[in-house]
Amino acid sequence: MPDLLAHYVASYLIARSVVRSRFRALLLALIGIAPDLDVVAHIHRSATHSLVLSLILAFPIFISSFWFDTMKRMRVVIALAILLYVLHLVMDLFTGYVPILWPLTDRSYYLDLRIEFVSSELDHPMNISIHIASTRTQFVYCENVGGSIAALPGIILAITAIILESMQELEKRCK
Ligand SMILES: [Zn+2]
Repeated sequence: MPDLLAHYVASYLIARSVVRSRFRALLLALIGIAPDLDVVAHIHRSATHSLVLSLILAFPIFISSFWFDTMKRMRVVIALAILLYVLHLVMDLFTGYVPILWPLTDRSYYLDLRIEFVSSELDHPMNISIHIASTRTQFVYCENVGGSIAALPGIILAITAIILESMQELEKRCK
């Protein structure tokens, strides 16, 4: 999986572009790491990583925002929350097997995307390949569920977010 920090900061940057409040964006970004709560049950990439199940659960909440006046104002936030959750599943797809279509299929999928730049090959310097691999889905209890909390992608994203926030703050003060 991408490191937890990468999931969180990517979600924060998206949330921050939608909601004005920094605090709300920080809270909403927690949804971007919610699928990994399955590690508490010592089963990683379990049903919490199913796009099908997530959309089945989220759909009635989103639809109800069209019916109930009290939820109308929440529609954008609900849509954002669904997007952040799905973003986590998509990010995971590029780093390992995800039961994204469970329970429709008992296969977990992994998108092996490779983009290579070869400077010596002037005709075709860019080589892009994508391979969809699958394996049988098994929700197995693991005594030690491993995963990185902060690695290079997350750290780079966090630095980017800090620079963006600093520049926005500076711009505000200069007005
Ligand atoms: Zn995950």
